[in-house]
Amino acid sequence: PNQPNTAQYASDQSAPAKDAAAFPAATILGYPRLGPRRELKSALESYWAGRSTAADLDRSATELRDSTVAHITERGLEGDSAVPAGHALYDQVLDTLVAVGAVPERFSDLRVGQGPAAGSVDRDGSFVLARGDAARQPLEMTKWFDTNYHYLVPEIGPTTTFTATPYELIDAVTRAAADGRTLRPSIVGPVTFLALAKDDGTSPTPVRPLDRLEDLLPVYADILAALRTAGAQWVQIEEPALVADFAHVTGNELRDAVERAAGYLAELDDRPKILVTTPYGDAGDLLAPLVASGVEAVHVDLVRGGLSAEQVALFTGEGAPTLVAGVVNGRNIWRTDLDAVLTRLESLRSAGATVSVATSTSLIHVPHTLEGEDDLDPTVRSWLAFADEKITEVVTLARGLAEGREAIATALEESAAALTSRVTAPGVVDPGVRERAARQTPADTRQTPAHVRREAQSRRRFGSAQLPPLPTTTIGSFPQTGEVRKARADFRLGRIDREQYEQFLRAEITRVVELQEDLGLDVLVHGEPERNDMVQYFAENFDGFAVTSNGWVQSYGSRATRPSILWGDVSRAGEGLEGDAFTVPWIEFAQSLTQHPVKGMLTGPVTILAWSFVREDQPLGHTADQVALALRDEIADLEAAGIGIIQVDEPALRELLPLRRVDRTAYLDWAVDAFRRATAGAADDTQIHTHLCYSEFGDVIEGVDALDADVTSIEAARSRMEVLADVRSVGFSRGLGPGVWDIHSPRVPSVDEIESLLISALEYVDADLLWANPDCGLKTRGYRETEESLRNLVAATARVRERL
Ligand code: GLN
Ligand code: ZN
Repeated sequence: PNQPNTAQYASDQSAPAKDAAAFPAATILGYPRLGPRRELKSALESYWAGRSTAADLDRSATELRDSTVAHITERGLEGDSAVPAGHALYDQVLDTLVAVGAVPERFSDLRVGQGPAAGSVDRDGSFVLARGDAARQPLEMTKWFDTNYHYLVPEIGPTTTFTATPYELIDAVTRAAADGRTLRPSIVGPVTFLALAKDDGTSPTPVRPLDRLEDLLPVYADILAALRTAGAQWVQIEEPALVADFAHVTGNELRDAVERAAGYLAELDDRPKILVTTPYGDAGDLLAPLVASGVEAVHVDLVRGGLSAEQVALFTGEGAPTLVAGVVNGRNIWRTDLDAVLTRLESLRSAGATVSVATSTSLIHVPHTLEGEDDLDPTVRSWLAFADEKITEVVTLARGLAEGREAIATALEESAAALTSRVTAPGVVDPGVRERAARQTPADTRQTPAHVRREAQSRRRFGSAQLPPLPTTTIGSFPQTGEVRKARADFRLGRIDREQYEQFLRAEITRVVELQEDLGLDVLVHGEPERNDMVQYFAENFDGFAVTSNGWVQSYGSRATRPSILWGDVSRAGEGLEGDAFTVPWIEFAQSLTQHPVKGMLTGPVTILAWSFVREDQPLGHTADQVALALRDEIADLEAAGIGIIQVDEPALRELLPLRRVDRTAYLDWAVDAFRRATAGAADDTQIHTHLCYSEFGDVIEGVDALDADVTSIEAARSRMEVLADVRSVGFSRGLGPGVWDIHSPRVPSVDEIESLLISALEYVDADLLWANPDCGLKTRGYRETEESLRNLVAATARVRERL
């Protein structure tokens, strides 16, 4: 089944790979792909909506790719192979899947018969894999390592075929060659591609994708040969899997796979020189076999990972690969300490390594440029470096390494001045916040028996008089209609004033409360119409945060978010240390409209950090504690306003989980502590809820229990409640709301379906602990399916109550 189509990219044996130039002195691993004005987003979305043609999309994509290459070159990455090519239109894992022809079984009808994509899918086919069609679900999407970027998960089984079809890369390399430029094509490596893939489910016995490595390697050989023929002198093979622990692959298996794959590729005659990258962490023991494999350059992430003296020694001596030092952080937006980094680079070189300067990861995780960010406080702005500024740093460091410190004296001074300014600027350290954090004692978080007390009392307060068994509720947001978004934009642009905007919000909240009463829900929400985003809204109301106007970062496909920048000590904005309440007016207003309890709605400390750029001058746990104390103040104010149920969302709890198992306990310790610091001040008769957006808990389930929330809502509809087995395994004895409506699609679940899900849930959860709610917030849904689905949810719950 694995006949690679070598004929298609028949190689030119006359040009030996050995004559390729040395690795460039400075490089980046990748550059933001959506475009400085999100041009790619517009081009893709208008094509998908049928408003433009394939030719239009091709023209926009080509223009963007070409201008990106030109732009990066102008920023100073001028040498051959210094600019990476691998500008994915949707996702780099999807592009690799297409390039190796690993079309999943359930999409095999999309395979094309001839042309450059023969045996794989063409661009339109790849969009079906990414987005699904009427007949099938798209590939699953999941987080790329511990970032907020989502990749598409390849599906590999025993019969998956592989064939070399790297047409997008060949095109990029060929186009650049016509312009007299040599790009460095980049592709996800074979070990990472398989380690991140999942079993396609076609075999009755479980299959591990990594077991298909032998079948995949010859296809990489063909791809490398084809790239060399097209003119590539270097190729970038990305192997971030080396920095992570996987549940289904042991360390030894990973080591064997690395030795085999890197050794195989290195031994090929007909190939460009190879750079293997290991971004996002520390490759640890896997670095040695990689360096010894015979590839010409190895990238090490020196921001997240390190190099011991023994590891540095691996890069010295005859035949050792170039050390591509990932010293400029690709994950965060702070300026590099050029002096410290240059010292580090010099010492690596004195130890005998051949050193090139690079970013720690691709720059897709940071915004394009600081250019145009005129609303940023100039002091804060002077501390930052986005993608373009990071290119300048890489180039500057390479120059300093080659020509000496004097050659970059001005840049060194500026970098030092920015660092000094950050240490002393008002707000970076707020003595009040510090003192308050220092006063916290373990007793402020460790109140385990409290939930028992709270539960008993909240039952009295929200007991049978008010709340029936299996209370029905929603997760917080109601549909954010065009009208809601327009009102927010109008207010931002000054087209309506604050009074008009607030009046609009009150009308919207009134509508949403009335709708919930009409539907017959038990615990109501205000619907979150005032929130653009569940993190940015909090950032805007806290001191210590800045927001950008154009700082978009790709989240998946054409989607991007605009993370806030957490630069200083955090407390609520306003007078005094405790600042002003900001969610209270809306919740209080909603509560004034109804006899039913209205839930207060907050975003938890871990999620606020996970979806922002965070400061690195103190441990993350300290920053989390400050955010927690600010939330604690908001909770106190909600209680004072008479709110008896408060939900603190932590959908990102699992996503910050460290890639290495050994680091996980320490992470969960501070993450759980922060949540409890935020919530443990609540009175015994206040019910604390939390919401987590996933249906697989794995290593965090104990942490979830330790949050000590009275009620936890989770995603469960798609797994048909299977997730509850996990939950029960830790003896979870708190209120639980497993989602009974999968809100990720517009499909309306029937009363029968919801009833049967609730009955399955009762096999795992005691009736007096079970809640009935959707999987997640309804922000992205329309009102039609929202009303119908919630009506069915209420009806199904009524039926189940009768059986109790
Ligand atoms: N309360 C939020 C909402 O309903 C929760 C969103 C989330 O879990 N991502 O929108
Ligand atoms: Zn959610």
